[in-house]
Amino acid sequence: MRFNSIIIQPYLPEDRIDKKILKERLENIFKISVRWNQPVHTPETAFDRFRGQYLGSYFLRDLLKYREEKSILLGIVSRDIYEPGMNFVFGVASPHTKTAVISTYRLHNSFYGLPENSHLFMDRVTKEAVHEIGHVLGLSHCPDPECVMYFSNSLLDTDRKSFYFCSSCYEKVLSALGL
Ligand SMILES: [Zn+2]
Ligand SMILES: [Zn+2]
Repeated sequence: MRFNSIIIQPYLPEDRIDKKILKERLENIFKISVRWNQPVHTPETAFDRFRGQYLGSYFLRDLLKYREEKSILLGIVSRDIYEPGMNFVFGVASPHTKTAVISTYRLHNSFYGLPENSHLFMDRVTKEAVHEIGHVLGLSHCPDPECVMYFSNSLLDTDRKSFYFCSSCYEKVLSALGL
């Protein structure tokens, strides 16, 4: 087996995530154990004061500090993140470092001036987490709008898709996991 666990590393300040639900959903999909680490401080070197955002890919390297053998690291930040050339990103991942990070900043209804909905928020967090772990496992974007690997340009795309892989993407996931 190439991977035996997913380690979730939250960065402070922590968002209102139901940790048990996310752990159960990821274990159910990826068939490997999922563990939450204690939260750590958000590295301020990742902050771009002109943009008022954090550089997403900075976290991909920072997460290597928490690496354990055969693990996939998933960072969760509550701050807004970006990549050069993009206004913002929901998440970023690298199949080389086997790390991924998601931002919950734009997953709240309140960001769009709508009443908060904790179920919807948790579904969005799950979709972004599964999507970025999919990239860690080497998957590209999928043309099926219901597949979790469909590219989300906006939250409408995220809300339309499920947090599951289509059958062709799931085959790739299982083979990347050595299952
Ligand atoms: Zn993607
Ligand atoms: Zn797919």
